[in-house]
Formats: sequence, C-alpha cells, structure tokens
Amino acid sequence: MKVAVFSTRPYDRTSLDAANTAGELEFLYLEPRLLPETAHMAAGCTIVSAFVNDHLNRNVLTTLAAGGTRLIALRSAGFNNVDLEAAAELGLRVVRVPAYSPNSIAEHAVGLMLVLNRKFHRAYNRVREGNFALDGLLGFDLTGKTVGVIGTGKIGTVVARILHGFGCTVLGYDPYPNDQAIAAGLEYRELDDVMAVSDIVTLHLPLTPETQHMINAESIAGMKPGVMLINTSRGGLLHTADVIEGLKAGQIGYLGLDVYEEEDDIFFQDLSSNILQDDVFARLLTFPNVVITGHQAFFTQEAVGAIATTTVDNIRAFIHDEPLVNAVQ
Ligand code: NAD
Repeated sequence: MKVAVFSTRPYDRTSLDAANTAGELEFLYLEPRLLPETAHMAAGCTIVSAFVNDHLNRNVLTTLAAGGTRLIALRSAGFNNVDLEAAAELGLRVVRVPAYSPNSIAEHAVGLMLVLNRKFHRAYNRVREGNFALDGLLGFDLTGKTVGVIGTGKIGTVVARILHGFGCTVLGYDPYPNDQAIAAGLEYRELDDVMAVSDIVTLHLPLTPETQHMINAESIAGMKPGVMLINTSRGGLLHTADVIEGLKAGQIGYLGLDVYEEEDDIFFQDLSSNILQDDVFARLLTFPNVVITGHQAFFTQEAVGAIATTTVDNIRAFIHDEPLVNAVQ
C-alpha cells in the first residue's frame, strides 16, 4: 500500500523504514511540506502521512481525497493543523500519535528553564571567547520556587514530577484534572491564581480556538513581574507581539520557546544563508533573556522511534480494517 510521507527529513526515512518490519508499506518520501501547491504529489497514494507544519485545510484535503487518499496518518500528537470537519465530509479518516514520549517534551521544557535561569546560552559563548566574568549570569535556586503548569495531560504531568523533584511548589490548571498529576505533586488551582503566583509558567495544553492567544497583554499583566514563560506546545497559544511588549517592560523576565506561531516558514530547515523576513521573530532573537529552539522538543531517539512505530501500526490497522485506536474524531 502506497504512503506519501510529506515533510520527510532523513530521520523520518530511517525510523519509518525500520518500523516497516512486515514490508507491507511502500513509502513515497517527499521533502516538501503538504500545502495546496504540493498536495497533488500524493495522487494515487491511499495514505498520506503529515507532520506538524503541514497544512491540512479543506483545499488540501479535497485534492488528497480526489487523488484517492483515504487515511491521514499524522506523525504528531497535535492535530490543530487539520480541518477535521472537512476530513469527515470527504470521508478521510485521521489518525495521530497521541503519546510517543511525553518525557522528551517535558525534559526539553525543564531544559529551557535551566538554560534561561543559569544563562548557559550566554556562558557558553563567553567561555569560548576567554571571558570568565560572571556579571549578568546570576541565577536563582529552583528549589522553593512556584511553577504553574497549564495543561496537566501526559506532558504536563511529567513536568510536574520533574519539578517536584527539584523541590518546587507545583501548581496546575486543567479543565480536566488528573490523578497522576496530583500523585506527581501538583496542586490544582484556578487559572488566574496559577498565573498570579507562579515564578515560572509552562504551557502544556493544545492549541484550539479557545486557547489561541491565551497569553496576551491581559493575562501577562496578571502574572508575577519577571515571570519565566515556557512554551513547548504550540506557537499560537501566545500573542507574540504582546509577549514582546511584556519582555520590553520587564514583566516577562525570561522566555523559552520551542514553538512559534509563524514557524511554518522558518523551522525544520537551514536558513542560515537567508535574510530573515519575519520581523517579529527577528525581534525575539535580540533579547538576551529569550531562548528559542526550533520545534525540537520531540527530537529524542525514543520519541522518533515511537512516532514511526505508532504511525506504521496506525496505518496497518487501517489496511486490515481493525479498530483505529488513535483516530482523531
Ligand atoms: P494531552 O492531551 O495529554 O494533555 C493536554 C491537556 O491540556 C489535557 O489534560 C487537557 O485537558 C488540557 N487542556 C485542554 N484545554 C485546556 C485549557 N483551556 N486550559 C488548560 N488545560 C487545557 O497532551 P500532551 O501529550 O500532554 O501534549 C500537550 C501539547 O504539547 C500538545 O497539544 C502539543 O501541542 C504539544 N506538543 C509539542 C511537542 C514539541 O515537540 N514541541 C511535541 C508533542 C506535543
């Protein structure tokens, strides 16, 4: 069965080939992103596999369905980039990888906290230039600080467990509280309370119409002055222009991002010889207290392997008419 794999990077090829143990799937590896201009490349492929910055809007889905596609196998947990209503109307099933390694993202989020706090990004460059002065590198003990975890699902729960181990007070908000998060040492509060008292706020909730731009001028004003804000979820959770104002005013003291609202045209490629066209992103790069990684939180051996295995399992279940346990409704 032919599977068109969009946004292919070398590691996708290696991991999907390794997971295709039965040799049942014939992968057509395509480097371009799935967009209205590229959707035709999947013609004749019953299955299309897509990643986080592929655009599965009505236009694209219509082209795919017309070309014979019947299953969209996302290689991601998030599915905010899929028009599910259009997919249902066109008879396209959508599957995803709900959990590949929550640890990979949680550990990256905590990594961003440590880098920002202890200023590893600045210390690394200084030491290489023979500058061993400590001015400007003063950090704080994480022990005893309050961390607010917004979204306490699989990743948020691991973050809570790690930070509880650091000796932090871990507060959380989620419309659906879970017992594992409580067992990990997290205490639930209302969203405004969590925002108001946390030294660090870390986001682990999906991007939906309700959560889009939840971090904006108003919510930033309700946070503790000098707060550290971490976003490894989806860029659209932040109103980036408001965040920049918060940074300029010092209301946000540290910002750690693995995602960016307009990342589609930037991340997952080498643009080091190009002129950066995104002025908002360029402004973010000027702050010494901002650290950005290019959507790499998922990028561990364990997570990449699990994404490939679950994707192949999802596709095989579809081919063999078995229940789609990872279907997105
Ligand atoms: P999950 O579904 O296990 O948990 C998400 C939690 O968010 C749920 O408990 C849900 O109830 C909660 N939630 C929903 N709406 C909320 C709201 N308005 N306020 C507070 N909480 C709300 O998902 P997960 O596996 O923990 O993943 C979390 C997010 O991380 C994903 O949605 C995805 O966007 C992101 N992610 C990023 C990467 C990366 O590489 N940077 C990788 C995987 C996932």
